[in-house]
Amino acid sequence: MDIVLTGTGSPIPDANRAGPSTLIKAGDTHILVDAGRGVVMRMAGAGSLPPLLAGVLITHLHSDHVCALNDVMTTHWVMTQGSATLRVYGPGGTATFVERQLHALEADVGYRIAHHDELTEGPRVEVTELEPGDSFSIGDVDITTAATEHSPVRPTIGFRLTHEGSTAALVGDTLPCDGVDELARNADAYVQTVIRPDIVRAIPNEMLQDILDYHSGVVDAAETAERVGARRLVLTHLVPPPTPEQYPEWEAMAAEHYDGEIVVGDDLTTITI
Ligand SMILES: [Zn+2]
Ligand SMILES: [Zn+2]
Repeated sequence: MDIVLTGTGSPIPDANRAGPSTLIKAGDTHILVDAGRGVVMRMAGAGSLPPLLAGVLITHLHSDHVCALNDVMTTHWVMTQGSATLRVYGPGGTATFVERQLHALEADVGYRIAHHDELTEGPRVEVTELEPGDSFSIGDVDITTAATEHSPVRPTIGFRLTHEGSTAALVGDTLPCDGVDELARNADAYVQTVIRPDIVRAIPNEMLQDILDYHSGVVDAAETAERVGARRLVLTHLVPPPTPEQYPEWEAMAAEHYDGEIVVGDDLTTITI
């Protein structure tokens, strides 16, 4: 299984980091987890495209994680000439979000149906809303879910994907919690969105201070990885975004608490497990 970091950014605009998303390539089964800013461009860079997606998993409905889902849906629709269904899985609220996105796209859908004989109907998107603890399969990838802790954002869920004996945990924005432990236990790769509380605290911006109470810091992620025996810790959604010269510092901070392999993610960094 390849884990491609299709976006390692956050709400903070960054020329080199697309918004949060991760692409799983399990053989021919491509699964996208979250759909942040620029995801379709990065999918192209990763050798994938929306029509190849067997499913899209959503961790939560914060805008940075879903703002480009409209692009995924539209591109999937146009590139399959309207003949295929895009399957989206997410927490409660996902169906309404998708419905409203499709509503916002109504003018475009109408223009294209009027202009292209091949298109006779709008995008087919099937949404499955998940409860923590749900298990299901996409192709030959087995997926389990658990609740994560990103309050006041509710509900939020993370995912554990298993394919041919390899396991990846992708848990989204969350504080350390039992759900993350469960998903990441003995995983070959534990992908965690992180911030650097020590740097954020020093930035005189009140809204930025608010993010401190609902994200994992680098140390939190490292402690979780160590506690649950994850083989690799993959850091993404890096706030504030580091320059490559700063990566050793982020890595060293995690290494003080965790003995496994540490990856500080760039866009299109690929981890093969
Ligand atoms: Zn986020
Ligand atoms: Zn969030």
